[in-house]
Amino acid sequence: MRVLMIGAPGAGKGTQGVRVAAHYGIAHISSGDLLREHIATGSSIGRAARTYVESGDLVPDSVVLDMLRKPIVAASEQGGYVLDGFPRTAPQARALHDAAADDGASVEVAVHLEVPEDRLTERLLARGRDDDTPQVIAHRLEVYRRQTVPMLELYAERDLLVTVDGDGDVDEVSDRVERGLQERLRRRQVP
Ligand code: AMP
Repeated sequence: MRVLMIGAPGAGKGTQGVRVAAHYGIAHISSGDLLREHIATGSSIGRAARTYVESGDLVPDSVVLDMLRKPIVAASEQGGYVLDGFPRTAPQARALHDAAADDGASVEVAVHLEVPEDRLTERLLARGRDDDTPQVIAHRLEVYRRQTVPMLELYAERDLLVTVDGDGDVDEVSDRVERGLQERLRRRQVP
């Protein structure tokens, strides 16, 4: 199965993405986690990405695409993927679509986790990652509204979008995600 987790910073993409991946026995690929690893090891990708991540801006598409191409193809060959945090812009979604169509690895379900903004800020401040300061959080939310929200339309047009209420406790939200996935997969099987 090939799934996307889409949501604002703090919506629970990581937590829920890990659970979906474990449930279906597929790879969980987080663009944010991979970027933080590259930054920690000081690789060329890490050096290209660092200032963007620290300020809450998006890393250039070319850097992210370079980093993810191989893991996505490898995961597709081994049963599928949960992509968490990628794609995040319409051009990234188109690049994924074009690359994946060639390899038979196209997205089957895009899960959009929806959480009210005041709850997002609360969650992020409680988490306290380096880029979870009030100023950077406000900027990341703005970047999400401006650059990621328009991308949802692409998945809605292809009838791949499942919107899930992400406000609630983790188990409750997991149940909603699972129901949404099942419903979407059933619909796909109807001729
Ligand atoms: P995340 O862990 O998903 O919240 O991502 C943390 C940061 O990594 C973001 O604020 C961006 O700077 C960068 N990042 C993660 N995924 C992407 C992506 N798909 N495109 C561009 N930048 C990204």
